[in-house]
Amino acid sequence: MISVAEAIQIVRQQTRALPSERVELQAAQGRVLAEDIVADSDLPPFDRSQMDGYAVRADDVKYAPVRLRIVGESAAGRGWRQELEEGQAVRIMTGAPVPAGADSVQQVELTHELKDATVVELLESVEPGKSIVKRGAEITAGDVVLNAGTTINAAMMAVLAAFGYAKVNVFRRPRVGVLATGTELVAVDQKPGQDQIRDSNNYSIGAYAELAGAIVERLPVTGDETSALKKQIAKAAKRCDMIVTSGGVSMGVYDVTKSALKELEAELFFERVALRPGKPTVFARLPNGTLVFGLPGNPVSVSVTFNLFARTSLLAMQGATEPALKHETAALAKSVKGTNERESYLPVQLTTNDDGELIAFPLKWGGSSDFVAFAVTTALAIVPANVKTIEAGSVVKVVRLP
Ligand code: AMP
Ligand code: MG
Repeated sequence: MISVAEAIQIVRQQTRALPSERVELQAAQGRVLAEDIVADSDLPPFDRSQMDGYAVRADDVKYAPVRLRIVGESAAGRGWRQELEEGQAVRIMTGAPVPAGADSVQQVELTHELKDATVVELLESVEPGKSIVKRGAEITAGDVVLNAGTTINAAMMAVLAAFGYAKVNVFRRPRVGVLATGTELVAVDQKPGQDQIRDSNNYSIGAYAELAGAIVERLPVTGDETSALKKQIAKAAKRCDMIVTSGGVSMGVYDVTKSALKELEAELFFERVALRPGKPTVFARLPNGTLVFGLPGNPVSVSVTFNLFARTSLLAMQGATEPALKHETAALAKSVKGTNERESYLPVQLTTNDDGELIAFPLKWGGSSDFVAFAVTTALAIVPANVKTIEAGSVVKVVRLP
């Protein structure tokens, strides 16, 4: 049995980044950058006014109130191209270029225009540089503004647009086949007969995989026969970068996932992790390179093991520099129990208290089959192996669920 940290390490080592592709900017949200994004211009590209007001020479208004002659106007997109001289002012708008010769902008609230708008009275003096963002103060042309490996969020879309990335190089989205195994399973649109249940794992796995950027294909539910399972896996492997199965990895007579993988000559990297829930998790690679995660059947184990391992691999395939769930810390609202030899990942809800501290509320649940209770979980609290109890108020590591 290997630790969770070792298993994640192996997943990262055995996952290769997929090739990149160029996509239209509007399709880039949520994708992982395969190139550094470089500024093609200074930002701001010119000395920019931060205020509506008057561009002036600070020297001219030292002994305010003073009157200056209005010689022009600089609006956003339509600057005033001449040079401002002593005794002059240019009416200026937010975002407009500050004319040459001016060294400060007085905001309109501290001025008023006189004589048919040909003269402005400035009521207060102004510091040199006031309300001007100098050219290049934010970004210099040639700067790397976003690094390869970053997942593109909504705010980054503006960065890409501002520097002219109409198309952007991102890693290809992984294609993932999800495959539920178990003779007891029927499809969602069927009424379960005697001893049967509906397949729910394919839906949670598919949803989590999509959240991790994958294109998901739902494969037909398969029984507990090695030969049928083998066929399904071999067929799906032709189109998929990853196959995620659920069920059939425990020690029972009908647990055939590992035998199917072995008969397909897969390389098994691990098959037992010191984890509760989710000990019998399997990670393997088929001879054609397709990665396989054989997750346990219990729906809660599925959510935990998918997000610890398969999600990490999917993000690594897309070139993410930090593919694994991030550890944070939270104080426990109630005590929790650990177990021997295995690290526990227990369902909690995260909130903040009045002091702004992160608090983890352990959920009441009936174990790894209790997916209804698990559905409101927002994070997992980590209890180290061989720790009997962690008392309320103690600070523990947590990982947020996507
Ligand atoms: P297994 O790992 O195949 O022994 O399955 C463990 C438990 O999870 C059993 O109670 C199964 O009925 C249940 N289970 C397995 N696969 C699924 C599935 N796709 N959807 C819902 N429950 C499942
Ligand atoms: Mg089964």
